[in-house]
Amino acid sequence: MSHRAGRHFLQIPGPTNVPSRVLRAMDYPTMDHRGPEFADLGHRCLLGMKKIFKTESKVVIFPSSGTGAWEAALVNTLSPGNKLLMYETGHFAMLWHEMARNLGLRPEFMSGDWRTGADPDRIAERLKQDGDHEIKAVCVVHNETSTGVTSRIGEIRKAIDSVNHPALFMVDTISSLASIDYRHDEWGVDVTVAGSQKGLMLPPGLGFNAVSKKAMEACEFANLPRSYWDWNAMFGANKSGYFPYTPATNLLYGLDESLRMLIDEEGLDKVFARHDRHAEATRRAVRAWDLEILCTNPAEYSSSLTAVLVPDGHSADELRKIILDGFDMSLGTGLTKVAGRVFRIGHLGDFNDLMLAGTLCGVEMGLMRSNIPHKTGGVDAALSYLALGETADGQKRAPRSATA
Ligand SMILES: *Cc1c(COP(=O)(O)O)cnc(C)c1O
Repeated sequence: MSHRAGRHFLQIPGPTNVPSRVLRAMDYPTMDHRGPEFADLGHRCLLGMKKIFKTESKVVIFPSSGTGAWEAALVNTLSPGNKLLMYETGHFAMLWHEMARNLGLRPEFMSGDWRTGADPDRIAERLKQDGDHEIKAVCVVHNETSTGVTSRIGEIRKAIDSVNHPALFMVDTISSLASIDYRHDEWGVDVTVAGSQKGLMLPPGLGFNAVSKKAMEACEFANLPRSYWDWNAMFGANKSGYFPYTPATNLLYGLDESLRMLIDEEGLDKVFARHDRHAEATRRAVRAWDLEILCTNPAEYSSSLTAVLVPDGHSADELRKIILDGFDMSLGTGLTKVAGRVFRIGHLGDFNDLMLAGTLCGVEMGLMRSNIPHKTGGVDAALSYLALGETADGQKRAPRSATA
């Protein structure tokens, strides 16, 4: 392959760009994970992740992909044949559902249209019919990465409570945690699932669970086979800052650094506001191009990615290829049901205004080179919003007078 000058634009919705500070933090000799130096690092990472999940309860860190953390959530809390209610928001919800089946559970899959989030009313309605409380858990993907739709987790909690159903509530936050506001304790989530390679700005390789007291109680009676994923072994070793088997030591160095950046330096509220703003600028560009945003409910627009539909008869993957070949930028592909129909712009993680401007320029130039019918002016719309857009109180920011 020939050398391509300049930085590659990695604008898929995960893995995301890893800040050079984080890369440098990992470039440090691997230490003895049972030695005295390690415990401080272990404690700091576990404590920091509690702040990210907004929980006072327990957090578990696995050397794994996000998929491993999905499995941990199920095998630690459930028994063979247990019924679950899972919601079809898109591709990732489908995979989690498939996993539940593979594990010998009986998941019911509430069908969705891939353009809206999990509907709290439908969940309440279904749980109301389950008078014998056969459904042991409700599983929802917070930010469906295949569609750019964010489900309303707080409202789903209220829906479960409104029918007094005792099911555990499990939420996948793999592409939302540390990008979109999330509150494990306040929203009464029992198990939250996360991974390192999206909002946390790390390479792939860490999986996380946040675990409520109720989920820990369920763990006592759950008898799906578990070994590698066993929470109890983790809780035991974590007390003193250690892990039951070799952790991904260098990724933990990176996590320690990214937690410092997210919590201590930028602050989570600002991190969320930054993602909201970039998502809004992106949507303005898409509308100006006269293309369609896949998500149809503005209350469920994702702040970490935007999935864009191309008109019928056109291929989103051809456009992605034009953009990759011509401008060295990777965009997310359409998955399963929306394959070829959508491309996804990731705007999460270590990201700023000029990176977004470059990203949108790449898309607009790609559209120009393609035969996809569209209007120009998407970049202009985004730039005006970024430069002069509404202030926090909804006022339009005036350009500074030239005669000042
Ligand atoms: C990325 C992603 C996953 C899969 O995570 P892996 O680390 O690839 O196993 C699952 N769910 C959601 C919502 C995701 O965005």
